[in-house]
Amino acid sequence: MTVRGETGTASGAAEKRLPMGEPEFRLDAMTRRWVAITGTRQDRPNLPSSDACPFCVGGLEADGPYTVKAFPNRWPPLLPGNPVSFAPGQALEGSARPARGAAEVVLYTPDHHLTFAKLGLAQARAVIDLWAARTAALLARPEIEYVLVFENNGAEVGATIGHPHGQIYAFPFVPPVPAREACVAAEFGCPICAELKQEDELQPRVVDRNRSFLAFTRNAADWPFELIVTPVIHLPEIEALNEAQRDDLARILTGVLSRYEHLFDQPLPYMMWIHPGVHLHVHLVTTRRQANVPRYVAAGELGSGVMFNPVAPELAAEALRAVAPTIEKARTNGGQRG
Ligand SMILES: [Zn+2]
Ligand SMILES: [Zn+2]
Ligand SMILES: [Zn+2]
Repeated sequence: MTVRGETGTASGAAEKRLPMGEPEFRLDAMTRRWVAITGTRQDRPNLPSSDACPFCVGGLEADGPYTVKAFPNRWPPLLPGNPVSFAPGQALEGSARPARGAAEVVLYTPDHHLTFAKLGLAQARAVIDLWAARTAALLARPEIEYVLVFENNGAEVGATIGHPHGQIYAFPFVPPVPAREACVAAEFGCPICAELKQEDELQPRVVDRNRSFLAFTRNAADWPFELIVTPVIHLPEIEALNEAQRDDLARILTGVLSRYEHLFDQPLPYMMWIHPGVHLHVHLVTTRRQANVPRYVAAGELGSGVMFNPVAPELAAEALRAVAPTIEKARTNGGQRG
């Protein structure tokens, strides 16, 4: 079974597909939100049945050597094309629009057995540079309004290929979650700058810090062990980070992801996404509340839109601070700096 948004594997190739068209956005009349309907792609090629990793050098998506690599998702839920208006305020009920945009896969390393936490600083920095470059390139396209860089890690959150990789969705409109964050900031001022000024309030939730970045558990976190990683000065986008700031982002991200890996002494499924726009920040969440206890989002939460987080952010921060992160230096040139 191939999960939507993941690149497919041979195991999904034999599935029968409904004979329908391209992916599209439909406006939900009850919420007036766009929903991407992507279960319509019948043109998946039959891949040779093989267990070979498509992301390893020599695999289906990597015919030559690479350090880091981005390429279009083979089965994109968002497709390039001419700009389409998604402006609000029009009589759009029942209408569908082509799912304009882009979906890309980002390979973090040719080494199949690493994780982001284990990349080492130089390689993590290369990933960050690629995120910035792809973000700029995608935003330059007229049909694209917002670029979301993200990673699903672990089978529990739908990652179907073990090779270290993330994804990028480029949207033809600002999606509801960052749009909401931008609205709140416009009305009340930047919440991250405000939080950074409240050092005493923030301190019990700080997990890691360096010259230019801070990692802390969110005060009203939706998820257990949810972290915000953000520059200590107001910078809106990843492309704006200078050399030193990018190194510091590499350092803090590998550090907090290493804390995740060591938290329960077993691989911890996680989701990570980056919100540019107001004050750049990374959201990092795990879908576990304890070592072997998943945190499900179920009817009470889906039905109300109110999250019930079973782990207090202060206790989550304490647990994450108590973990000693492993910073991989052996593979890097830049690992000893700072
Ligand atoms: Zn691989
Ligand atoms: Zn700010
Ligand atoms: Zn955010």
